[in-house]
Amino acid sequence: MRRGNDARLAAANFDLAPFTLAWEITRACALSCLHCRADAQPRPDPRELTTAEAIGVIDQIRDLGNPILVVTGGDPLMRRDVYDLLAYAVDKGLRTSLAPSATALVTAKNLARVRRAGVRRVAISLDGPTAQVHDRFRGFSGSFQRTLEIMRDVREAGLALQINTTVSRYSLPVLAEMPEVVAKAEAVQWSVFFLVPTGRGKAEDMISAEDHELLFHWLYDLSRHAPFDVKSTAAPAYRRVAVQRARGERRDESGQAVRSVAGAGYRFKDGLDRPGLGVNDGKGFAFISHIGEVCPSGFLPLIGGNVRERPLADIYRRSQLFRDLRDPEKLKGRCGACEFRAVCGGSRARAWAVTGDYLAEDPSCIYQPARESYAPDR
Ligand code: SF4
Repeated sequence: MRRGNDARLAAANFDLAPFTLAWEITRACALSCLHCRADAQPRPDPRELTTAEAIGVIDQIRDLGNPILVVTGGDPLMRRDVYDLLAYAVDKGLRTSLAPSATALVTAKNLARVRRAGVRRVAISLDGPTAQVHDRFRGFSGSFQRTLEIMRDVREAGLALQINTTVSRYSLPVLAEMPEVVAKAEAVQWSVFFLVPTGRGKAEDMISAEDHELLFHWLYDLSRHAPFDVKSTAAPAYRRVAVQRARGERRDESGQAVRSVAGAGYRFKDGLDRPGLGVNDGKGFAFISHIGEVCPSGFLPLIGGNVRERPLADIYRRSQLFRDLRDPEKLKGRCGACEFRAVCGGSRARAWAVTGDYLAEDPSCIYQPARESYAPDR
């Protein structure tokens, strides 16, 4: 899948369509995790999209293009029509994955239904290598053990397993133990989420900018030899580190380029002085909420429009919010002056969550741009 995605990414035009689209089909969830982006609730919102409206949303996604569709929540399995929606999306040709919560609903039987609907990949959250770390984060004891069982069931259902881990001050001290867990679980991808203080996520639980930088280098090294793909989320500055590191490694003795840098959401050809595309909030990425609001990402809850009132393609392509986010000339502070801004651009969600300005510099990046025009108060 990855090679195909790289080719698609190289051909993508983020002004026209997102590369990935996450859809929160419900906000209902039996869990109450510490960092929950959605601030999920035990009962469905009465304003939730109906089945007919949800089918219409899938048609709208297809009208927009052919993004990777991530069906999420809340807990998407809390919707009774979830299997029908998954099957419809797959039938429409959308590469569809599912991100359920680790609840009693994720049974082997239900995973078989997910597989029969045509879904190929399931993402499961595991926020630490031990019950102590994970259960604290997830808000109840026994969650770690349940998650391990679900990961086994995902594999046994013939689905590819993706493991999502949120980096916070709780998981940072034990993060180095995670790759072994991910490898043992035979996951195809480890997706490392850097906490954004949105929803129930708190600013004091974020790690420092210096620790972000150390982790980026560690992840880059890990990506060279891990038996699974490594992806960062809400941390586009990882791409800056990947470019910087690869520039130092790219030539062999004859001066030939020796490797390219690729991963989920970004791709750089061997000519690393010409960075390619980097997915960011509203730029190659979009999010649809449980009531049809279209946001640049789940961590940036600003609304470009609502699919109940305006076509998704029109919101993504023409709303001022999305157009601002795709224009690197509008970035401020260090991000505005940075030579990596087109391929990185900083986490727009974290900039907004911390400063209230979605175009401000990313406070989790330590990089000092080389451009002379850099002005901190810009
Ligand atoms: S300053 Fe901004 S654009 Fe530059 S690397 Fe850091 S986060 Fe990315």
